[in-house]
Amino acid sequence: MMTSSLLLGIDIGGTKIMVCLYDADLALLASTCAPTPASEGGDAMIASACAMADTLLADLGAGQADTLTEAGRAWATANAGEPATIAAIGVGAAGLIDSEHGVVTAASDSFHGWAGYNARTALQRWCDVPVAMENDVNAFLIAQMANRPQDEQRRSVLGLMLGTGVGGAMWLNGGIFRGTGYSAGEIGHIPGFDDVPCTCGARGHLEALAGGRGIARLWHEATGGDEDTRAIGDLARSGDERAQALWSQAGDSVAKAVAICQSLLDIDEVVIGGSVAKSWDLLEPAIRRGIAAYPVPIAREVAITHADDGDDTVARGAAASARLLL
Ligand SMILES: [Zn+2]
Repeated sequence: MMTSSLLLGIDIGGTKIMVCLYDADLALLASTCAPTPASEGGDAMIASACAMADTLLADLGAGQADTLTEAGRAWATANAGEPATIAAIGVGAAGLIDSEHGVVTAASDSFHGWAGYNARTALQRWCDVPVAMENDVNAFLIAQMANRPQDEQRRSVLGLMLGTGVGGAMWLNGGIFRGTGYSAGEIGHIPGFDDVPCTCGARGHLEALAGGRGIARLWHEATGGDEDTRAIGDLARSGDERAQALWSQAGDSVAKAVAICQSLLDIDEVVIGGSVAKSWDLLEPAIRRGIAAYPVPIAREVAITHADDGDDTVARGAAASARLLL
C-alpha cells in the first residue's frame, strides 16, 4: 500500500450514512455524515456515499476543511502535490450481509431496494478497488481487534453491542466467525430471560432486558416515565432504586449470555459497546456480580472490556476489513 493510498470506510445505518477516510494504520483523516436515503433504494444510498467520499478526497487534497481531523491536515501537508487515492473500501451495514459476494441478504423494513442489492459491484463502478462488506456489529468487533498485538488477535472474543437492541459478533481463530448464513454471534434473541415482550414480537429474550429500547420500555412500565437509558442512568446514580434495579437486571442478563458463550466457545474476553454501555459505571459492577453468580465449570476467567467505540466505529471496522484485502 503506497503512503498516499487511503482506506475508505462507509457506515450505512438506518438513519444516517457516515463516510470516513483512514490512513493505512486506521488513523481517521476525514469524515462526514448525511441522512440515509433508505426509501430510495441501494443505488441512491451508494451514490450518496460516493458523493460524500468525493467531497472528502477533495477536502484532503485542499488540506483545509471542517471534515478533516488534525491527523488529516497533517497527512495533507505531508502528501501535498500527490493525489489522494483509495486503495480499498469497507462497508458496514445493518442486516444480514453476505461478505463473500458483497450482497445485502436481508435488511430491516425501513430500507427499500436494499435486500438483495450488490453493494460491492455498485461501489466498484465508482472506484475499482477491493471492497469488503460487513454486518455492522461484526465491523464493530473488527474495529476493537484490528490494531491489537498479534498475541491478542488469537483470543476468542464475544462482541456485544448494547444499542437500541442487542447485537453480537464472534472473533475466533484470528478473525470474525460469520457462519454459513452470515448470522453467527447474533445473541440478542436467545430465550430464557424473564418473560417480558421483546422487540421481535416474542417474549423472554436478552434484548428485552439489555437493549436500550427494552430498558426504556421496562422503565415506562414501572414509572410511567419516558426517559431514555442515559437519563435512567442518571436517575440510578442519584439513588433511584427502580432505575438501579433495571441496570442490575441488564448486567445480570449480559452475564448469563457470557456464561453461555464461555461454556460453548471457551471465550477469553467479552467486549461491550453501544449506547447502553456508555453507563459503564452502572453496567460493569452488575455484569461482574452476574459472572460470579453463574460460574461455568472448567471455564477460565473471562475478561470484561468496555469497547472503545466512537462515532466512526462501524466505518473503522469496515475499513480494517478492507485493509485485509490488500
Ligand atoms: Zn427478540
